[in-house]
Amino acid sequence: MAGRIREEDIAEVREKARIDDVVSQYVTLRNAGGGSQKGLCPFHDEKSPSFNVNPSRGFYHCFGCGAGGDVIDFVMKIDGLNFGEAVERLAEKSGVVLRRIDDDGGDHRPKGPQRNRLIEANRVAQEFYAEQLATPDALTARQFLSERDFDQAVAAHFGIGFAPREGEALFRHLRGRGFTQEETVEAGLVAVGRSAYDRFRGRLLWPIRDASGDTIGFGARRIFDDDRIEAKYLNTSETKIYKKSQVLYGIDLARREIGRSSQAVIVEGYTDVMACHLAGVGTAVATCGTAFGDDHARVLRRFLDDRDGSRGEVIFTFDGDAAGQKAALRAFGGDQNFASQTYVAVEPDGLDPCDLRIKKGDEAVRGLVADRVPLYRFVLSNVVGKYDLDRADGRVDALREGARLVSSIRDKSKVDAFSRELAGMVGLDPDEARAEVRRASHRRPPEPGAQQAATTAP
Ligand code: ZN
Repeated sequence: MAGRIREEDIAEVREKARIDDVVSQYVTLRNAGGGSQKGLCPFHDEKSPSFNVNPSRGFYHCFGCGAGGDVIDFVMKIDGLNFGEAVERLAEKSGVVLRRIDDDGGDHRPKGPQRNRLIEANRVAQEFYAEQLATPDALTARQFLSERDFDQAVAAHFGIGFAPREGEALFRHLRGRGFTQEETVEAGLVAVGRSAYDRFRGRLLWPIRDASGDTIGFGARRIFDDDRIEAKYLNTSETKIYKKSQVLYGIDLARREIGRSSQAVIVEGYTDVMACHLAGVGTAVATCGTAFGDDHARVLRRFLDDRDGSRGEVIFTFDGDAAGQKAALRAFGGDQNFASQTYVAVEPDGLDPCDLRIKKGDEAVRGLVADRVPLYRFVLSNVVGKYDLDRADGRVDALREGARLVSSIRDKSKVDAFSRELAGMVGLDPDEARAEVRRASHRRPPEPGAQQAATTAP
């Protein structure tokens, strides 16, 4: 496959891969008049859309950061590919067959397997695993699904599979399909000890896909008691195509609905994503074996539409228990621009969306999301709830701890409203709460960058 791609073929890729189709796999676009479309720039943080796409002329341009170019430039930049890889990827998706010229016989490819090969290996693996789900050995896997009200059609829709217990089945299959050992290892599917063996053995598997629908890795659940690996879930480890700080399970299915409704629901597990989608909450996604972080927030922001100046809603489903409260507090302490648009959906009995759907049906899952409360209110009421508010000293302590939290909010335009709310919860005068928040912020050492954040807040 060495050699330059023919110029005519590159031109054909430019023509057939529509820039608006390609961009909208990453960014929610709206009509901006004059035949162009706009959305939030995926290359810099912004609050109002300055990222423009012109489908008839085949280019994009951001008036905020100056990024711009054609469809190939866009794919290179957003997926971190070189020119040849970007052309290959677009050619594959738009059905263009690339021909090459062996001019100098040299190999210009970068070292290691190409990204396309890793994507292809994961695609073949997903098909293989999905077929294995129908075999007699996969009985336990099928039972796991049916106990959760997921039938065969649902399993097929989500691409669920089964990794055979025998440790080299996938490796042999991939070798038979022409993949090198290096490619299977770099794709995150095979590991090498004394010999090569499958990373996932005797587990139920969910393919994890990127926004464009390509499988980039797997989440694997323990289903056999004699599984030598104790961990309930295993995930693909970091590869060229799988970055765990960014991947969101279900984003391929949810991205359009997230853009349309300007809302995203973050749940904890693969089965919760499935339950939400089946119940009609088509905006649900989950992180894969890691806590929701700022990188995930940045990915979601690309899809959340900017509507009437509001940034859309991000709803976390937390358990009402201590762990859930801690998770909420962590979310609160993270990217605070994000925190102000963040909501929490708490199920009173502590049921996750999957169990909720089994016990109470689809409507209950929709109700859980509809009954969301703002994150700050949830966190504040947890803090205040620790104290006995019938006692004067309890009220003072609750106010003090609540004020400390409110004073930590970087968006100073929110502080007054939160102080008033805190006063209401504790049962004290708003002026007392405001004074306590001022005292708390004086006790707090100034954070680096806090000044800037405060002055640029809306
Ligand atoms: Zn930009």
